[in-house]
Amino acid sequence: MVDAEKQKIAEFLDIAGDFLGNGYKSEPREYNLNDAPAPAAYSGADSLEQIAMEIKSCRSCPLCQKRLNAAAGEGVAEPLVMVIGEGPGEDEDKQGRPFVGKAGQLLDKMLDAIGLSRATNCFIANVVKCRPPANRDPFPEETQACAHFLDRQITLLKPKFILIAGRIAAQTLLKTSEPVGKLRGKFFELEKGGMRIPALATYHPAALLRSEDYKRPAWEDLKLFKSKIDS
Ligand code: URA
Repeated sequence: MVDAEKQKIAEFLDIAGDFLGNGYKSEPREYNLNDAPAPAAYSGADSLEQIAMEIKSCRSCPLCQKRLNAAAGEGVAEPLVMVIGEGPGEDEDKQGRPFVGKAGQLLDKMLDAIGLSRATNCFIANVVKCRPPANRDPFPEETQACAHFLDRQITLLKPKFILIAGRIAAQTLLKTSEPVGKLRGKFFELEKGGMRIPALATYHPAALLRSEDYKRPAWEDLKLFKSKIDS
C-alpha cells in the first residue's frame, strides 16, 4: 500500500472515530506514514521503568497523535504468567493502564479462576501501547514499530508462561494470519530473549462479551493453561 492510500485510510478512520466517539470533527491530522526509523537502541542497562518512560514519549507511529495516555503494562516483576493483548481501548487510554475496561474486568475474573492476578503473579501488556482510533485493528506498521517494547519487556520479565488474548496478539506473536479459532487450544513455544516460553492463545475477553459461543472454548483453554502451569 502506498503512503497516499494509507493517509486516506487514516483520515477515514479519524472521521469514523470522531463520529463514534464524540460527534464532532477534530482538526485534520498529518500522519508521517513513511517507514519510521527504528529508535536508537538504549545504551544503558534496560529496565521496565526505562521501557515505560520510552513508551510514554514514543512518537514512532501515528498512534501517538491521538493517544491520551500510552499503557505500557503492569503487574509483578518475574511473573509466572505474562498476558498479552491487542492494544489499549478507551478506558485504558484514559487511565494509561492495560485491561481496565469491561474486557479487562472479565480478564481479571478469568485469571482469578485459575489462580492468577496482576497483583500477585502476572504481568499484563499489549502488542501496541497506544490506542488505535475507534478501536480499529492496529496496522502492521504500528505493531512493528511497537514490537521492540514488548520484546524488551519479555526479555526482562522472563515469564514462565505466556497467555495470548485474541486474534491480533496471536497473529502478531505467532507470526501467522491463521484465525484465532485455529491457533487457540494448543501450546506454542515463543523464542524471546534467548528463552523458549510456552504460550497459549485464547479468545479475547471482548469476544466473550460479544458472544456466548466463545465462553466454553475459552474456559477449556484456561483449564489447559492451568494444567500446564501445575505440571
Ligand atoms: N483490549 C486489549 O487487547 N488490551 C487492553 O488493554 C484493553 C482491551
